[in-house]
Amino acid sequence: MPPHILLIIAGLDPSGGAGLAADIETAASLGVHPAPAVSLVTVQDTVNVQRSEPLAPELVVAQAEAVLADMPVAAIKLGALGTAAIGTAVADLLARHADIPVVCDPVLAAAGGGALAEADLIVVYRERLFTASILATPNRAELTALAPEDGASELLALGLPACLVTDGEGRGETVVNELHRASGIRLLEGGPRLPGSFHGSGCTLASAIAARIALGDGLVEAIEAAGRFMERALTQAFTPGKGQAIPGRWW
Ligand code: PLP
Repeated sequence: MPPHILLIIAGLDPSGGAGLAADIETAASLGVHPAPAVSLVTVQDTVNVQRSEPLAPELVVAQAEAVLADMPVAAIKLGALGTAAIGTAVADLLARHADIPVVCDPVLAAAGGGALAEADLIVVYRERLFTASILATPNRAELTALAPEDGASELLALGLPACLVTDGEGRGETVVNELHRASGIRLLEGGPRLPGSFHGSGCTLASAIAARIALGDGLVEAIEAAGRFMERALTQAFTPGKGQAIPGRWW
C-alpha cells in the first residue's frame, strides 16, 4: 500500500533541529510521506534564531494547494506561520479542505527565546485556526500568550475541540502532557524527563501526532504513540552544535 500523506505547513530551520526538518524526519520515520510547504525561512543555529523571513501568504498557500490538488492528503500539520496574513491565508485554505484533520502547533518562539510570530497571529489562532483544527499543541508559555484568561478551557470555549498542553519545558521527573477536551482533562505520560534542552521537541511531538492521525489513529492513540516516539528520539538526541541537543528521529 502506498504511504499515507501528511501535508506540513511550517518554517525552515537550517540547523535541521526544528521546523520542517523535524517534521519531515518524524513523518518519514513513522512511515508517512511528508509533503512540506514552507511558511517562513529562518536564520538560526542550535542556540537561537537570528532572523525570520515570512514568505508571501499567496506563495505559502499555492504550495499547499498544489499538493492538495495532486495527492490524497490524509492530515495537515501546521507549524510556525509567522504572520497574521499567512495565518489568515492558511485558515482560508483549511476552510476549502475542511474534511482533512488538522493538527496545529501554535509556534510563537524558538526554544532559545527568539520570536517566530508577530503578535497579531495570536488573534488568527484564536478566531480561525483553532476552530479548523482537531488538536492544538501549545507548550505552557504559548498557552499563556494564546489564552491569558483561562488557559486551555478558554481555547475550548472558542471552539478548539482538543488542546494538548505539552510539558517538554516542565520540571517534574516525568513528562506529563495534559489533554483538555469538553469531556474533561486526561493526563498522558510522555516518558521520563531527560536532562538538557532540545531543539525541535515541540515540532517532533506535534508531527508525530499528525503522522499517526494520517495513519488512521484516534486522538488519544495518536498522542500515546507520539509520546513513545518522543521518548526514543530524545534518548537518542545528539549535540552537533554549540546549543541545544537535536532529537534522534530517524534511526
Ligand atoms: N518552527 C521553526 C521554523 C523553528 O525555527 C522553531 C524553533 O526554533 C520551532 C518551529 C519551534 O521549535 P520547538 O519544537 O523547539 O518548539
